[in-house]
Amino acid sequence: MTERQTSVVVLGGGPGGYEAALVAAAIGGSVTVVDRDGVGGAAVLTDCVPSKALISTAAYVGQVEEASKRGVHLAEGADVDTTLEPELVEVNERILGLAHAQSHDIRERLETVGVTVLDGTGRLTDASTVEVTLASGETRTLTADMILVATGSTPRVLDTMRPDGERILTWKQIWDLQEVPERLVVVGSGVTGAELAQAYLGLGSEVVLVSSRDRVLPGEDADAAELIENVFRAQGMEVLNRSRAASVERTEDGIVCTLQDGRTVTGSHALIAVGSVPQTEGLGLAEAGVELSESGHIVVDRVSRTTARGVYAAGDCTGVLPLASVAAMQGRIAVAHALGDAVAPLQIRGISANIFTEPEIATVGTGLASPAAKEKGSPVEGEPGIRQILMPLATNPRAKMDNLSEGFVKLFAREGSNVLKGGVVVAPRASELIFPIALAVQQRLTVDQVAATITVYPSLSGSITEAARRLHVTVED
Ligand SMILES: Cc1cc2nc3c(=O)[nH]c(=O)nc-3n(C[C@H](O)[C@H](O)[C@H](O)COP(=O)(O)OP(=O)(O)OC[C@H]3O[C@@H](n4cnc5c(N)ncnc54)[C@H](O)[C@@H]3O)c2cc1C
Repeated sequence: MTERQTSVVVLGGGPGGYEAALVAAAIGGSVTVVDRDGVGGAAVLTDCVPSKALISTAAYVGQVEEASKRGVHLAEGADVDTTLEPELVEVNERILGLAHAQSHDIRERLETVGVTVLDGTGRLTDASTVEVTLASGETRTLTADMILVATGSTPRVLDTMRPDGERILTWKQIWDLQEVPERLVVVGSGVTGAELAQAYLGLGSEVVLVSSRDRVLPGEDADAAELIENVFRAQGMEVLNRSRAASVERTEDGIVCTLQDGRTVTGSHALIAVGSVPQTEGLGLAEAGVELSESGHIVVDRVSRTTARGVYAAGDCTGVLPLASVAAMQGRIAVAHALGDAVAPLQIRGISANIFTEPEIATVGTGLASPAAKEKGSPVEGEPGIRQILMPLATNPRAKMDNLSEGFVKLFAREGSNVLKGGVVVAPRASELIFPIALAVQQRLTVDQVAATITVYPSLSGSITEAARRLHVTVED
């Protein structure tokens, strides 16, 4: 007799949903993914992938100038103009092409492993039933042993600065821009605001970054935020600190942003980046017994269970940490738990995150200053019992060769045990350099174990072992 397959319905095909579907299919589930806007989710189609592709493109604009700082100049009499200028329509076409190709690949992978993908909008009618309105208008009712809700989040919209898709934009609307904005006012200096402000600055916009706080990137490592704010200013960005935007309105040929103290900032366009809200309304969650927090996020435990038996949730709709990597891990954990596979609960400790500015800011164990991360005991600046060291990259030989004067490696260790608790790297491609630190934090290595590992000479990772060496405590200490 063959065992009945566990039926799994996944609501939302972003990283929280599609990764879970792949794992569920691999361990024998019968899986349906219902997705409204395109497999891959906002991560692939509008947020993560396109923004990183834009940032990568912007980096090319300054290459001629960068080369000349290293003594490499255009050949005498070369028949080329030294000014690089982006054609935004072409840039955006390439970016959206990449995003759609990735979405297509994910869908193909899902279908190849036997997952049914339905294009439509779903809602729970109870804890084991999902009603789907297909894109065709038809409805379908699916019953499931396990439901995974992974419906993501959407940009926060304020009545006083309503996006119109033309001049006042959310980050989802910038991909339709036909030309690089002449003067872009970015409202909000969190990760999205900071990353996109610098990308458009690189592409040639005049940029004003409006920040309500004392410095950009509130909640992130203070040294890193200060460094990046200085870089922004040195590159010509106007950063307005302690300047809360009260409203953004259209003018005849642009926008005007009025600050709470009455000052005004004008621009050709405004990008509103004031956070996200979970997409949990109208899903029938409360009726199915799923508890929501005051902010509308789905309450989950460390194996992604909600308060309704059989209903799990993953990704931005849970508010654990708004990262594609975390969404995917939550989804994998959920199906492993529901389908009886080996499962390790989500650990905040070893999660690394990156801010894709230039230089990048990568963190692990610290800098993830969400209330959830702090609750889990990750070391934060000034916490008792934590020692720290900051090594500027300026002294690193590889950094000198690469003309890097900005950036640092910072490590945190627990006093007494000398176990590495976290780190911050500010450097080009810090997103790659953070991995050895994350591995050490996850595996609870001591600073001495890290320091004893021989790195390549010359390399930026040499600064990681050097920082660990400096955190060594002699017996007399
Ligand atoms: C500008 C920007 C840049 C970012 N860059 C990074 C980065 O570099 N690295 C990183 O790790 N994270 C990044 N993030 C965060 C990352 O995009 C999110 O954490 C990630 O998208 C969360 O995945 P998810 O599966 O929860 O949701 P999503 O990716 O939003 O997917 C949710 C899916 O659910 C669907 N859906 C919603 N409601 C329904 C419904 N009722 N029925 C059916 N389907 C539904 C949606 O259509 C969507 O396809 C970035 C975010 C932004 C805004």
